[in-house]
Amino acid sequence: MILIKQAEIYTPDLIGVRDVLIAGGKIIAIENNIEAPKGVKCEIVDAKGLKLTPGLIDGHVHIAGAGGEGGPSSRTPELQLSQLIEAGVTTVIGCLGTDGMTRNIESVLMKTKALRAEGVSAWMFTGSYQIPTPTLTGDVGRDIALIEEIIGVGEIAISDHRSSVPTTDELIRLTEHARVGGMLGGKAGIVNIHLGDLEDPFRPLFLAIEKSMLKLNQFLPTHCNRNDYTLVSAIEYAKAGGYVDITTSSYPYFPQYEVKPSTAVKLLLEAGIPIEKITFTSDACGSLPDFNPITGELIQLEMGQPSSNIREMKDIVNVEKLSLEIALKPLTSNPATILKLKNKGKIEVGKDADILLLDDKLEIKFMLAMGVFMKKDYKPLKRGSYEK
Ligand code: ZN
Repeated sequence: MILIKQAEIYTPDLIGVRDVLIAGGKIIAIENNIEAPKGVKCEIVDAKGLKLTPGLIDGHVHIAGAGGEGGPSSRTPELQLSQLIEAGVTTVIGCLGTDGMTRNIESVLMKTKALRAEGVSAWMFTGSYQIPTPTLTGDVGRDIALIEEIIGVGEIAISDHRSSVPTTDELIRLTEHARVGGMLGGKAGIVNIHLGDLEDPFRPLFLAIEKSMLKLNQFLPTHCNRNDYTLVSAIEYAKAGGYVDITTSSYPYFPQYEVKPSTAVKLLLEAGIPIEKITFTSDACGSLPDFNPITGELIQLEMGQPSSNIREMKDIVNVEKLSLEIALKPLTSNPATILKLKNKGKIEVGKDADILLLDDKLEIKFMLAMGVFMKKDYKPLKRGSYEK
């Protein structure tokens, strides 16, 4: 058992100073004062002056590597456990990405299992940028219904020069299958959409709902901050009922186009979009290619990191001057609700003990994943299997 004493609790809503008792990887009590249980081993953490928050959820990470748009040497490596610990991420959702041709769903599934074995929580999307999209069983719905780790499909690319330019009917059929697979499997069955640079990038999604019985909340479009006009369209899209996912790692690689993630949250809130509609994801291990707009030639290549999430979360507080409660939601309760991760994203009795203890600079002093310390006194305690 672990007893955390006198932390300021953010559920992510601020509820005040409390004690939190953890056993069997779960939060089993949250009270004003909890005595250490007698007769059992119980580690006590003095958390006076620290903020206790849910562990962060990163809903879009190329865990098995991605990229390759600059040729074979530009393929990105697999995610390492230390990158998640550094970032305070206790739950990660893997996806394939651009390369549905030489990479496959099997490797993403095995990496999902590997991350679970290393101590964090992990799920994944089936599919890639392309439609028809690669699957394990031949159908996205069957993948979602039958394979425990698979909660949706994506990232499916639209409005991008690397997209397979799905027709409206193709997009509807894929989304319907994902939705029904989700119903059968008790999953979100959501379609994670990669938005490219085309103007009016959400148009294919609006066309799909016009022509079907689908709702916009069946999609989770990402890279909504990739440039000014995409964010403006995202406001319209969210007002019509859709979710907006902000990519944190591409900033500041492309400051000439990108809207800073913390600023994007502020702009969305000012436009009247409720915080519950907004999520942050890192797109980590994705390559960040920049192409010459005239020749289409690759001119720059970088790789995203999960730590960009917490950097932008801090900037929501420090730069945009919004509350920590607001700053936490796009990385905790919102993705948990949207992705139907029922034991995640909240500090509540019965939820998984995925917990961060932050100091007054919002640095991670302690981190627990499923009730196991990943970090203590700022020091990481775990490493990936092949990390020194
Ligand atoms: Zn993408």
